[in-house]
Amino acid sequence: MNINGNFRNIKDNYLFADVAKKTAEFAAKNPKADIIKLGIGDVTRPLAPCVVNAMKKACDEMADVKTFKGYGSYDGYGFLRQAIADYYKGRADISADEIFVSDGAKSDIADILDIFSEKNTVVIPDPVYPVYLDTNVMDGREIKYVECNASNDYLPLPDISVKADIIYICSPNNPTGAVYTKDALAKWVKYANENDAIILFDAAYEAFITDKNLPRSIYEIDGAKTCAIEIDSFSKMAGFTGVRCGWTVIPKALTRGGSKLYDMWFRRQSTKFNGVSYIVQCGAAAVFTKDGMKQIKETIDYYHGNAKIITESLDGLGIKYEGGINSPYIWLDCPNGMTSWGFFDYLLANANVVGTPGSGFGKAGEGKFRLTAFGERDRVIEAVERIKRLKF
Ligand code: PLP
Repeated sequence: MNINGNFRNIKDNYLFADVAKKTAEFAAKNPKADIIKLGIGDVTRPLAPCVVNAMKKACDEMADVKTFKGYGSYDGYGFLRQAIADYYKGRADISADEIFVSDGAKSDIADILDIFSEKNTVVIPDPVYPVYLDTNVMDGREIKYVECNASNDYLPLPDISVKADIIYICSPNNPTGAVYTKDALAKWVKYANENDAIILFDAAYEAFITDKNLPRSIYEIDGAKTCAIEIDSFSKMAGFTGVRCGWTVIPKALTRGGSKLYDMWFRRQSTKFNGVSYIVQCGAAAVFTKDGMKQIKETIDYYHGNAKIITESLDGLGIKYEGGINSPYIWLDCPNGMTSWGFFDYLLANANVVGTPGSGFGKAGEGKFRLTAFGERDRVIEAVERIKRLKF
């Protein structure tokens, strides 16, 4: 029996499991501590009323023999794929039959690797969402890093000395909150088209972009349909972290090695995936109605308001940071040259506030720290007041 030996090359624990463990240990030793969590990127606001109503209605349909539904199609119900295609209108030309409905971005980010050989070289930004790295290490692919730091405004451009086959781009970035401009993304698209590479574009936070000039989809860039796959999610956009729904776009024009990647992914999904529940897809489609868009905007504005409270306090403390405007994440410099985990311990012990150590997102994240704007307003205000009282 041979196990997948590549698992020996990944860290024992997922970053957020480490954070949860350390927090639980602190709570056990300090049972009276009122801990505020601004660490993990989970949302706190409830689902939009129109989403809930759509799901209740779908439940009723499932309770009636005349409207009951069994297995759906592997790529999702047409009504949701069409609503997603319409969401792109005016920004990019995507058709409903280039869309696959998923149970969230994480599974598709990981599973899409099934259609690519293990021999490919992968380019991953450092720091970034840990799933890109871990899934490729599990498969044994060669990994090259492109560093995101203050000198490149946390937005690295293609390095022609690196031969990449698969390129991950996360914009708005988790954890730095930085967002690519159209010009900068066009450089990656040009590189990918010229080098037979594929861009995996993670747009999970696109709904947080407020600057109208910034691209929310890679398909806003000419040439992207021949080199990019886009993965998006209802999780942060509409509070679906516990409901589970997302989508992946694979343009019909996207081919590599003589094969249409759309066809390969359809084949993969029909073999290993049985679709997303009808009830969830009805809820997701409601997000794109007029009421839905209004209601999710109110929630996103609420999170933006939290981000403003956090960044204003950092301004007052003279702490440098990135993000927080077109993103729910604030990526700050640990004060007094503290390491990421050093600041995590300091903040937990002295303010009972939990954040995420930057080094957990990659080597280049050392000395940085991520706070999220997904908390409840009064808890964010309380956390900020406690941080302001600290002596750095
Ligand atoms: N992509 C990024 C960059 C994320 O930060 C996350 C979750 O935090 C995901 C994808 C996963 O989203 P989902 O809940 O849709 O699986």
